[in-house]
Amino acid sequence: MAENNTKKNKDNFNFPPIKGKTPPKKQNYGGFWFYIILAAILIGFNFFSFQKEPVKSNWQEVKTKMLEKGNIDKLSVVTNRDFVKVYIKPNKIEDYSQLVSKGFKNSSPGPQFVFTIGSLEKFEDNVDDVQKAFPTEAGNVSLDYEQEYDGWGNLFSFIVPLLIIVFLWMFFFRRVGKGSGMGGGGGIFSVGKSQARLFDKESLVKITFKDVAGLAEAKQEVEEIVSFLKHPDKYTKLGGKIPKGVLLVGPPGTGKTLMAKAMAGEANVPFFSMSGSDFVEMFVGVGASRVRDLFKQAKEKAPCIIFIDEIDAIGRARGKNPNVGSNDERENTLNQLLTEMDGFETNSGVIIVGATNRADILDSALLRAGRFDRQIYVDLPELKDRESIFKVHLKPLKLGEDVNVEFLAKQTPGFSGADIANVANEAALIAARKNKNAVEKQDFLDAIDRIVGGLENKSKVIKMGEKKAIAYHEAGHATVSWLLEHAHPLLKVTIVPRGKALGAAWYLPKERQITTKEQLLDEMCSVLGGRAAEELVFASISTGAQNDLEKATKQALAMVTIFGMSEKIGNLSYYDSSGHNDFSFTKPYSEKTAELIDAEVKEMVGNAYIRAKKLLSEHREQHKQVAELLLEREVIFSDDLEKILGKRPWKDDDEDTMKNEVLVDEGTENI
Ligand code: ATP
Repeated sequence: MAENNTKKNKDNFNFPPIKGKTPPKKQNYGGFWFYIILAAILIGFNFFSFQKEPVKSNWQEVKTKMLEKGNIDKLSVVTNRDFVKVYIKPNKIEDYSQLVSKGFKNSSPGPQFVFTIGSLEKFEDNVDDVQKAFPTEAGNVSLDYEQEYDGWGNLFSFIVPLLIIVFLWMFFFRRVGKGSGMGGGGGIFSVGKSQARLFDKESLVKITFKDVAGLAEAKQEVEEIVSFLKHPDKYTKLGGKIPKGVLLVGPPGTGKTLMAKAMAGEANVPFFSMSGSDFVEMFVGVGASRVRDLFKQAKEKAPCIIFIDEIDAIGRARGKNPNVGSNDERENTLNQLLTEMDGFETNSGVIIVGATNRADILDSALLRAGRFDRQIYVDLPELKDRESIFKVHLKPLKLGEDVNVEFLAKQTPGFSGADIANVANEAALIAARKNKNAVEKQDFLDAIDRIVGGLENKSKVIKMGEKKAIAYHEAGHATVSWLLEHAHPLLKVTIVPRGKALGAAWYLPKERQITTKEQLLDEMCSVLGGRAAEELVFASISTGAQNDLEKATKQALAMVTIFGMSEKIGNLSYYDSSGHNDFSFTKPYSEKTAELIDAEVKEMVGNAYIRAKKLLSEHREQHKQVAELLLEREVIFSDDLEKILGKRPWKDDDEDTMKNEVLVDEGTENI
């Protein structure tokens, strides 16, 4: 029978796993249940103790009804609590109705009564008196002394604060652990463990190379790495060595992380992914320890890929002077990375992929062959690439019939993959806002305008006088750039406020692999066209040209100090592309040269300004027409300018290279 019961119980607790589903993970509640049961026993023990609770009484009653009658066996004084326990002789218990009603029997153990006393001496005197008066009845009553402690109360008062402290301690360190990105249960003790997320066959990454549009060369290189890992023999049998590291370098949003994700999706080997900043922690030595742990894990899983995003967080060039501007913790982390990258055999099948926007600031030791042997430059997409990126991101959208991918790609020179993804999304949102059934061309154009110039600010109140100034300023830019051979082709001019800008001239810049001095000077001149127009038309200047002046000054300074385009300074460049200059607060030229640089910059900007003013005064009437048209329509296009200023006489020198447009956004400016 007993056996049967046991079996039955067992069956009740063993649920069979549901088909097709993994059984829920068993949680370890063992410790938890133990404490619950213990607490229940303690509480139960307190409540249902076998000993009966004594009846409360007082000295008078005890004296007259018990002591003087000779019914008491023993009196026990609890000295630390000032009360007395009364033990009645067993054969007299049933004489007391209070005891009987409480369930006391002759056999029940004492004490049966308790009463409080004022002072011990007084009580002893009282008992003495009674014993003298009733020697036969009370003479033999023994007077005991004891001390009593509330065992459980004491235990609880000791244990509860201890438990609270332990709980807080665990809570705090768990938080520290999680805060440092250690994941659940890491705690303080695993602070030195690597933070890498591991993707393997179970944790599927769905992105493949098909999701990465364009970037043909970069993709090919990365595909080759995947192939190294899949078929290492093909490469090693001819004596070749598999590269150890690959560095993806390029401007933000160009798809470096996406490429790495695709690599994870395609490679079919374990893929450790982490960011450079994951190595950094508030504790000294943690970074190096994490690097060690990462490589240890990777070696165990080889062949595999380690991906470190934003590697410049740890890979920045180490300082030469240990006391100036150096960061010991970061340098230790980097040193450990350098050691690990060179510390394992080339063919051990661990390939490190790094991604950064700033390869120029990385430590040269990191970039040397044998560590990051290969650098893959992921550039801003060109026309054809933009087209294919648009195709990827337009796929989920419901498109209107007038949407032409090629046109969109042409309208977005200089946009990164992330910008294009944003344009597609923004266009869909704009169309939805207008309750359209499909996303149309105009929605895309609005989205592009919004991304380049910011949100249209129609509610901004602009006084008529200010509006006129803005129109003449923008017309100045448009007119001057129209009249200059090397200025970028104008797309449109607007005086609708957007973001911080009150008006803007939009250009479609041409791609140039190299830029000549004439081109730079023409651009500077068109940038200053706004201020020149203000001075000519209103004979007063405003703060609106600040953005233009900043741009022109920076350009002139770069021409003089970096590109060696000043005759007086000569063919010198003070630019340090290595990023290793620890003493950047000291200028690499003398005070005399500094003065010369100042004078040259001033002269260059001054000459460009004089040219702009000259052009505008020569075409004063046309400039006025452009400004008035702008005031009337708020947005005018290059066709309108052509009607006023005539066709530009120059054949577009880069017409053949127009396929490869790249944008330097000159769109927005404040007036
Ligand atoms: P950062 O250097 O700032 O980290 P990143 O180069 O790593 O930028 P990603 O995070 O890879 O940029 O790209 C951001 C988003 O841009 C992607 O999620 C994707 O939607 C889009 N994107 C970028 N490049 C491409 C591309 N070539 N094809 C398709 N989508 C792209």
